[in-house]
Amino acid sequence: MLKPGSFALLVGSTLAFSAPAAFAADTCGENALGTSRTITVSTSEFPRIGTEQYLETLRLKDREVVLTFDDGPHRENTSRVLDVLAADCVKATFFMLGINVAEAPHLARRARAEGHSVGTHTFSHINLSKVPLEKALQDIELGIEAVTEALGKGNSPAPFFRAPYLGITKEVEKFLYSRGLMVWGIDVDSLDWTFANPEKVIERSIAELEKNGKGILLLHDIKTATARALPVLLSELKRRGFRIVHVVPESNPPPDASNISRLANKKQQDERPKSLRE
Ligand SMILES: [Zn+2]
Repeated sequence: MLKPGSFALLVGSTLAFSAPAAFAADTCGENALGTSRTITVSTSEFPRIGTEQYLETLRLKDREVVLTFDDGPHRENTSRVLDVLAADCVKATFFMLGINVAEAPHLARRARAEGHSVGTHTFSHINLSKVPLEKALQDIELGIEAVTEALGKGNSPAPFFRAPYLGITKEVEKFLYSRGLMVWGIDVDSLDWTFANPEKVIERSIAELEKNGKGILLLHDIKTATARALPVLLSELKRRGFRIVHVVPESNPPPDASNISRLANKKQQDERPKSLRE
């Protein structure tokens, strides 16, 4: 059982922790969580995922977790989240908000350069189920434009989309499919946007993952509590035997998506021939 307050000491002790980005894969040792495998998906095979919204989701094995971060980038908190992910050799998926990308385009570039998947989340965080269809489509397009512009020449966002508030209609979904975008719901909600206390983020995330056994976890990199919770959350996932899965689009993989932790890489090579890896 998780007791409230049980992460206090750990969270407190890691507050000062911030590894420079350059740390990355080379310094990930035995204690790093790492990324256990990378799944390449085509949007036609997985048009929509997430058991909280749909009947379908990713084919994850027991205790496999996909980390997703919405609403960023935020100058301080997203930087911190990227530092922590780099230090632990963990790859995640970001659903960036156009208006925030316009404020901190370098963080969109950094996330992609460090091998994370960078999807989109509209421009202005409107609830797509509560505005006229035309406005909804326009905000989706503007969001994609903002991230595309930030990523720069030769790069484009992953064709991954998550609706703000997870609010969506059949018409919007139809548009997203026709545009080749994969609609991401969630399997597990950290409820991090409701917490000011990092311990609560950890407690809720772990409890829900234990209950569900695996899944796509929703987090928000703009939240201070989430950025502060992340080092302990990752070590707690490792301690409990959860493994991180990174999802990359078939059409547009991040530059070093295959550059997963040496630990995980080595393990995979030992276990399976390259041709069988997903
Ligand atoms: Zn959001």
